Amino acid sequence: MKKDYYEILEVEKTANAAEIKKAYRKQALKYHPDKNPGDKDAEEKFKLAAEAYEVLSDDTKRAQYDRFGHAAFEGAGGGYHSSMEDIFSHFGDIFGGHFSGFSGFGGFGGGSQTRLRGENLRVRLKVTLEDIVKGAEKKIKVKRKVKAEGVTYKTCPSCNGSGQVVRQMQTMLGMMQTSAPCSSCQGSGQIIENRPPESDSQGLKIFEETISVKIPAGVMDGVQLKVSGKGNEAMGKNSIAGDLLVLIEEQEHETLKREGENLHYDLYISFPEAVLGASKEIETVTGKVRFKLDEGVQSGKILRLKGKGVPSLNGYGTGDLIIHVNVWTPKNLTEKQKEFFREMRDNENFTPKVEKTDKSFFEKVKDMFS
Ligand SMILES: [Zn+2]
Repeated sequence: MKKDYYEILEVEKTANAAEIKKAYRKQALKYHPDKNPGDKDAEEKFKLAAEAYEVLSDDTKRAQYDRFGHAAFEGAGGGYHSSMEDIFSHFGDIFGGHFSGFSGFGGFGGGSQTRLRGENLRVRLKVTLEDIVKGAEKKIKVKRKVKAEGVTYKTCPSCNGSGQVVRQMQTMLGMMQTSAPCSSCQGSGQIIENRPPESDSQGLKIFEETISVKIPAGVMDGVQLKVSGKGNEAMGKNSIAGDLLVLIEEQEHETLKREGENLHYDLYISFPEAVLGASKEIETVTGKVRFKLDEGVQSGKILRLKGKGVPSLNGYGTGDLIIHVNVWTPKNLTEKQKEFFREMRDNENFTPKVEKTDKSFFEKVKDMFS
C-alpha cells in the first residue's frame, strides 16, 4: 500500500500551495543525500517527498489525486518514478538558484559519472467515450531523438566524466571549493568519439516510432499518462531516455453525456408512447440497452440503469446510465387530430392530477446526488 502524499509531506489535506512548498522544502533538506550519504532509507524518503510534491504542487494532478488516490496516475507505465536527476532539476524552483549545484547530482546511483537524461516528450491523444468505457490500446507515432547507429562516446578527459571542474580558492575564510560545469563537455561528462554523418552534435537523430499506449478505463480529460523511457534519448554511454507524456483529450459523444462515472441520455418519446407505455431500446457504447416505460410515464422522469455507466479509474465499481424522459409534444397536427384533443381538453382524464410520487425535477436531481 502506497503512502498518502499528504502524510509524506506532513501537511493537512487543506494545505495551500505555500504550505505544501514549505513542507516539501523541509522534507527535502532532512532527507537530502548530501546529508545522509549511503542511507538508502533516506534516499527513498527523499524520492517519495519529491513525488508527493510533484503531484500536490500541480492543481490538476492534485485534484485527480484527491479524487482517485494513487490510481489516478497508474495508467501507462506506472506512476511516478522520478530519477534523482529529475528531482534535482526542479530544485531551482523550490530553493532558488543557489541550490542547483548539489554535489549529489553526479554521484548518485552509478559511480562518479553523470547520467544524462533526455527530455520528456508531450503529445495529446484524443479518446472516444468508447475508449473510456472499455479501456483501449492506442498506437501513436512519435518523433523522438535516439542515438544514431554507430555513435560512440567516451569519458571527457578534462573532468573525468563528472561534468564539473572543481577549483580550490584561498579566501579570508580559508580554502573554499567551487565547482563549475566542465567547458570541454558542457557538463555532460562525455564527449563524442565517433559521430555518424546523419547525427547531430550529440550523436542523436530523429526517429519516428510507433508507440503503444494503454488507456485505462475510466480515464478523463486532462489526465496525463506516462510511458517511461519513450521520450528523447540523451548523449552518453549511460544516459537514460526521457518519458513520453500523453495528455488525454476526451471527445464528446453524440448522444451520451458523461458526468464523472455516470452517463446521461436524453430520451424523447411521443405523446402516444407516454400515454400507452412503451418498450425502448437505446444504443450505448457497450451495446444496446432495453427498458420499459409504464403507461402514463411523465415527462422529466429519470430512469437509472445501474452499472451501465463508466468504470471508475481506480477500479472500484462502475457508474450508472441515467435516462431522462422527455415527452415530445407534436406541433403540426391535422384538423382531425386537433379535434380529438379539443374534445379531450376538458375531459376529467386529461386534467393534471399530480401525485406525491411525481416529484418535481429539482427533487429528482436532489435524489440523484444524495
Ligand atoms: Zn568534461
